[in-house]
Amino acid sequence: MESQAERNRHLILLPCPYQGHINPMLQLGTILHSFGFSITVVHTIYNSPDPKTHPHFSFVPISDGLSDHDIAYGQLVDNIMAVNSNCKESFQEYLEKVIANEEKEVISCVISDELMFFAEAVANDLKVPSIILRTTSAATSIARSTLVKLAEHGRVNSKGSASHDIVPELQPLRSKDLPFSLSTNFGKYAELIAKAYGKRTSSAIIWNTMKFLEESTLEQIQGQSQIAIFPIGPLHLIAPANFSSSLIKEDRSCISWLDRQPHKSVIYVSSLGSIAALSEEELAEIAWGLANSKQPFLWVIRPGSVRGSDWIELLPKGFQDSVGNRGCIARWAPQREVLTHPAVGGFWSHCGWNSTLESIAEGVPLISKPCFGDQRVNARYVSYVWRVGLELEELERGEIERAVRKLILDDEGKEMRERIKELKEKFGICISKGGSSYNSLNELVNFIRQLST
Ligand code: UDP
Repeated sequence: MESQAERNRHLILLPCPYQGHINPMLQLGTILHSFGFSITVVHTIYNSPDPKTHPHFSFVPISDGLSDHDIAYGQLVDNIMAVNSNCKESFQEYLEKVIANEEKEVISCVISDELMFFAEAVANDLKVPSIILRTTSAATSIARSTLVKLAEHGRVNSKGSASHDIVPELQPLRSKDLPFSLSTNFGKYAELIAKAYGKRTSSAIIWNTMKFLEESTLEQIQGQSQIAIFPIGPLHLIAPANFSSSLIKEDRSCISWLDRQPHKSVIYVSSLGSIAALSEEELAEIAWGLANSKQPFLWVIRPGSVRGSDWIELLPKGFQDSVGNRGCIARWAPQREVLTHPAVGGFWSHCGWNSTLESIAEGVPLISKPCFGDQRVNARYVSYVWRVGLELEELERGEIERAVRKLILDDEGKEMRERIKELKEKFGICISKGGSSYNSLNELVNFIRQLST
């Protein structure tokens, strides 16, 4: 009979069903697959990844119980909580089946997104080791936990604040940078945070961040944690780039448009990411701000992201004629490729954690305008701590025009480009042989191997 050590070591991955969570989980799977693990991705039907993009993985859909109404109108936090209660039973059935088949395969562990805590609970009940993947910054995790404590003590208004006053416990964050969610129900959000950052049963945490970027924050977290933390970011740079996990079809025609633009002249605008939305008035401010900047722009407008329309029907009259070929609008861009393009001189981003890391990794300075949640924390680090981006206070055409021109044309933008180039180099060092993420990844692989011996 085969010895246990010779059997296939099997990792079961559970991403949270949103683009910003699916990408890093599948990147992690690709990396661990290259170390010899077999990978199964257990996923919801809602926002299910396309198995064809990762032919070397197995994909197992489980019922998420979300109705069309939940998907169209439900709030993010409610849907995540619902997925956690609705998926538990089907995941348990699946895991029991795999365990019963153990002669063929040994489960090394379950790796679940920090927000998919049901998977950790099932693994724990069935005595299967589990590891958490954190897909946001370390600073966000502290900010979220602290936010709940501040609310409990009545120190913050549960609806948020626009104040620029520093929150002493969270230097350098101001009240306006606190990671409030889109949800109007703060109690539910606090419950989600307690589940994600409270006491967990997993054996370790994998973090899509880098030691040098968040050193003191990671040390603070490790000091309070009983389990090992493996900062192995940026995952997208370690994983081979040829596997896309986009839920929306990427419009590749924007690359040939970029090919025709001057060096470092284009502002790439993806100011919403995969979740946030805009009003018609906000759309008009962005449109005229970009038009008046006179700089070429590549603007991602996600289908359904402008309230009251399917796509770009509500763009202001005269806008497209006024910009002509100077503007290119895409439903969804191959973002990583866009950021490596020599014509791109800046990125106006909502500062989702993946976008932030992707921009730094390519040395592209940012205009930050966060919408909600962790984006606010990331934006503060971008503009104030790492000083690689300009903060946009208002979605107002004059401010947008000035910010674009400053970033692409002025000395201030040039200085940011120099600083972000230094960070880019450090990213490269982190993932090279002997670098902190390289070493952490090897330690993680040994750690996982020991879990199943
Ligand atoms: N993305 C993309 N094309 C686009 C816009 C975004 O491929 O047109 C990708 C982007 O590269 C990133 C992810 O979608 O990996 C968005 O994640 P992020 O954490 O930045 O933001 P979220 O969508 O979670 O708010």
